[in-house]
Amino acid sequence: MARIAEVIVDIPTMQTNKPFDYLIPSEYEEQIVPGMRVVVPFGNGSRSVQGFVVGLASSTEYDGRMKEILEVMDLDPVLNEELIQLGADMAKKTFSFQISCYQTMLPSVLRAKYDKVIRVIDELPGDLWETLFASRDEITWQEATERGILTQLMKLKQQELVEVVYLVKDKITVKTERHLKPLLSFDQLEEEKAGLTKRATKQLLLLNVLQSLAGRQVPTKVVREEYGISTAVIKEGEKKGWLTQFDVEVYRDPFENHTFEQTQALQLTPSQEHAYHQIMAAVEGGTSDVFLLKGVTGSGKTEVYLQTIAEVLKKDQSALMLVPEIALTPQMVQRFKSRFGEEVAVLHSGLSNGERYDEWRKIEKGEARVVVGARSSVFAPVKNLGLIIIDEEHETSYKQEENPRYHARNVAIWRAEYHQCPVVLGSATPSLESRARATKNVYHLLELNERANKQELPEVSIVNMREEASKGNRSTFSLSLQEAIRDRLAKREQSVLMLNRRGYSSFVMCRDCGFVLPCPNCDISLTLHMDTKTMKCHYCGHEEGIPSLCPQCGSRSIRYYGTGTQKVEEELKQLIPEARVIRMDVDTTRRKGAHEKLLNRFGNKEADILLGTQMIAKGLDFPDVTLVGVLNADTSLGLPDFRSSERTFQLLTQVSGRAGRGDKPGEVIVQTFNPEHYAIQLAQMQDYNTFYLKEMSLRHKGQYPPYFFIIRLTVSHEQEMAAAKKIGEIANFLRPSLGPQAVMLGPTPKAIARTHNRYHYQILIKYKREPYLEEKLHELLQNSQKDVAKGMVIAIDSEPTSFI
Ligand code: ADP
Ligand code: ZN
Ligand code: ZN
Repeated sequence: MARIAEVIVDIPTMQTNKPFDYLIPSEYEEQIVPGMRVVVPFGNGSRSVQGFVVGLASSTEYDGRMKEILEVMDLDPVLNEELIQLGADMAKKTFSFQISCYQTMLPSVLRAKYDKVIRVIDELPGDLWETLFASRDEITWQEATERGILTQLMKLKQQELVEVVYLVKDKITVKTERHLKPLLSFDQLEEEKAGLTKRATKQLLLLNVLQSLAGRQVPTKVVREEYGISTAVIKEGEKKGWLTQFDVEVYRDPFENHTFEQTQALQLTPSQEHAYHQIMAAVEGGTSDVFLLKGVTGSGKTEVYLQTIAEVLKKDQSALMLVPEIALTPQMVQRFKSRFGEEVAVLHSGLSNGERYDEWRKIEKGEARVVVGARSSVFAPVKNLGLIIIDEEHETSYKQEENPRYHARNVAIWRAEYHQCPVVLGSATPSLESRARATKNVYHLLELNERANKQELPEVSIVNMREEASKGNRSTFSLSLQEAIRDRLAKREQSVLMLNRRGYSSFVMCRDCGFVLPCPNCDISLTLHMDTKTMKCHYCGHEEGIPSLCPQCGSRSIRYYGTGTQKVEEELKQLIPEARVIRMDVDTTRRKGAHEKLLNRFGNKEADILLGTQMIAKGLDFPDVTLVGVLNADTSLGLPDFRSSERTFQLLTQVSGRAGRGDKPGEVIVQTFNPEHYAIQLAQMQDYNTFYLKEMSLRHKGQYPPYFFIIRLTVSHEQEMAAAKKIGEIANFLRPSLGPQAVMLGPTPKAIARTHNRYHYQILIKYKREPYLEEKLHELLQNSQKDVAKGMVIAIDSEPTSFI
């Protein structure tokens, strides 16, 4: 008999990064199962901490006096067997704590301390309703704990007679709706009618309505509003025993006010058909193959996803579909909801905590078997997975930039192996890593080389902005772009204009002495925010007013620099006053639902031009857009990152794909100061294959991924000397264990050497095969516990995506 629980406690340190054994109190013996949260006494002072039960045992190797679990926090597990295992593996691979991995997997409602209640959802046997609930609908968790009745409630939970409901502060967690249901049969109701006085017309009406329901339940609201029957009359009917009223849980539906027209599967093109069959063979065969679906923009990748998912559902399995946050547009959601209706759960950052929790529960209960969401949805508690899809697989947002530093692609592949189901990675511009794996047959390559509607890819032309300047045009808009926009206006077609903001910011500079306002805590300049009229630091959040005098020389010649979307919008309005412009950037989309509203307005042709940042480059599908302009293609080229060409190529290809998606051909105009650059030229020709080969040879020469792996180690401390000393020690510790092929770069200060008043140093290790490195790094973390306790932060990032 298992009497011992193995618990991962909520103390993120190296010492505590392993399960601790606890005695299970006898009353919980049969109820505690892995995946539940408990409260246990920890350490010398036996302070209470939370933890996750990850296993049960009947004996222990621990020879001290074992402590008992103090409290249980769940009536049934919040993590299943699969996620418990995944968390343990992920912690190793990402050099993070197991507890952080588990917390990352759960919606925040289950992370923070929310109040919760236990609610009756079905008839309880015997007199349990009276004795446990004192004839109430629900009791608080606290009361249940104090009265020592949790064990009994756990049993009821296992029989699904009660449920636990979290009271989320941002809204009441569970929204309910009052319903009513006739208690009498048709004939009995008929008899009631006979007993009415003539004047009781409303009661007669109610009886008629109840008869028409034939035993079904309806929202009380419907009866009130559609038949004009007042609450008092309904209450009266309830008293007379004609009907009963009760609350029905309704999910907060973020898409409540939308109607989704059911769509049907389209007749697949031959290459879609081929991809479909290959993927289905893996679904049927239950193999965890990884497919790379490389399809030009508009080639119908999404249709392939939809049809394979439909088959997976027919097999009674579920599907997980990941989409980058910024591509998780209402349009994208709509395509899934229209095909699968209620089966779809959507998880994105725009949801409130309560909404997110609702979606999570729908998934957990198996009510929604298609999950569409951004990065962290890869942890959705989907059971019986039959297919995982990662759209726009090259997107760097799939990698989490803070602990645990996981890549959703790797997690997806792990889960696919667990469930024995395939993974599909889709992209028009696959990452070099994935494309290279397809060359080596680690992934299976599937290609869609033509647009589904047989439309040609848009014509792309390049404008050399250096020449533009020498012609005397200092505007953001080249003459040919201006002309193209006017032409579209005349034809009543739409344009999309993108301002590449990567590595770009608006700042304030003194024209006399060149002073740029710095952040007092970080080594970067402050960014100008016109909406709040303040200067902000994008790292630490420091905020101050816009100076009117130069703090260095006292001059009044303070000027704004950089090209913000707002400035561009104003310029555009001056050049082409008759154009109706919608601007989309972080400032205009901050409010909930704003993103969607702006896109709807554009879709309804309430504007001629959509002007925005990277957020408009992906996923939009508007048939009347025939012109795409890229205002500054090269800002991302100058970044000190070996992936800058790849990023630029991807971005230009993506945004070009927004043009000419309907019947009318599209045109793309790319403005650049580097017209000779291969990334720009090959993006113009939309020639991924040549770009891939060229870039691969450069990566080979530079010993970069995908030829080499990269691990980055960063150390940070408030005192610069302490950080520098530690990174030196780490370098000396690791160097002897590296093979001859490995390259260690650094130690060096990071590109931004100080943020949040902390100093950062780093080492990069490039390597091909270092079988002992992972072990060695874990050893390093073990050995550094003393420093960490004194405020040193050591981070290990395997395959970092950003080098700034
Ligand atoms: P991608 O995801 O590759 O960018 P989409 O799936 O969005 O491509 O398809 C682009 C357009 O082509 C959409 O409007 C879609 O409805 C249409 N489409 C896709 N497949 C087919 C098909 N087999 N027959 C007709 N139209 C299709
Ligand atoms: Zn000055
Ligand atoms: Zn700062």
